Amino acid sequence: MLFTEKLRPRVDILQFALLNQKNIESEVARLDLVDPVVSGNKWFKLKEYIGEALKENKTSIVTFGGPFSNHIIATAALCKTFGITSVGIIRGEQPKIISATLKHATEQGMILFFVEREKYKSKEIPQFLHNKYPGAYIINEGGYGFLGMKGASSILRLLSSKKYTHILSAVGTGTTMAGLVESSDIQQKVIGISSMKNNFALENQINHLVSKENKNRFQLLHDYHFGGYAKFNSDLIHFMNDWYLTTNIPSDFVYTGKLFFAFSKMLEEDDFPPGSKVLLIHSGGLQGNNSLKNGTLIF
Ligand SMILES: *Cc1c(COP(=O)(O)O)cnc(C)c1O
Repeated sequence: MLFTEKLRPRVDILQFALLNQKNIESEVARLDLVDPVVSGNKWFKLKEYIGEALKENKTSIVTFGGPFSNHIIATAALCKTFGITSVGIIRGEQPKIISATLKHATEQGMILFFVEREKYKSKEIPQFLHNKYPGAYIINEGGYGFLGMKGASSILRLLSSKKYTHILSAVGTGTTMAGLVESSDIQQKVIGISSMKNNFALENQINHLVSKENKNRFQLLHDYHFGGYAKFNSDLIHFMNDWYLTTNIPSDFVYTGKLFFAFSKMLEEDDFPPGSKVLLIHSGGLQGNNSLKNGTLIF
């Protein structure tokens, strides 16, 4: 086995007044603690791809991402662990000073190629890369795809997840969400908080990955993006600091901050019937907070 049971994530029980008041139980699956670099859902999403690449004796992996991508850093670190050359095709022109994320990725041995935004959209691999890394194993941007979904479907299997009535997770490509839907029970409600603005293609992206009986067996919320992907305002930052003081759980401003914010709002608005047991998936991503000004967050 490539990835062992040591991955069983810790689960924190939330305790604050509003939960008691509304008679709701809630727990957080701390995927952020699974690994310091390959944190959160990325480990789960990547494991099947890496496994397949190793099985096919691939010596290099090429993938795509933005300059702050958790997927890029996770891929770089995993490839290093398994002795595979990693190549990152990065969205946008090469800046004078690269982001902390990309610097970290190069420290893990990733070779970066910057592609201007318009060209990047086509997700084509430049010919010279094909020549340099012939037969490289290719992983989609964000790890989107069937194997990513398959890997993510082991998250709930590692937890005692049957008791939960609701499962909430942050959503980017929808791959993790698809894995959660696929591995949940029919009576469990799986709810995704989209980190992007009006990304209505998500529904199809998720339905494309799950099996027939699970199509549309989920709900996506599009009202908690705070202006769009990686956008934030002082309300979100205040909330994340408050949430940390209340729960001792750090969050990131791109995904999990918005997830916990949405959960709090839903709790206030009585979206969960009394007696509900809500599982929140902490999908990691804390390294992304390094791009915030020092002192913004208290953790
Ligand atoms: C990548 C990421 C997500 C989104 O996962 P998808 O499977 O692409 O939907 C959510 N949370 C964090 C912290 C991430 O890094």
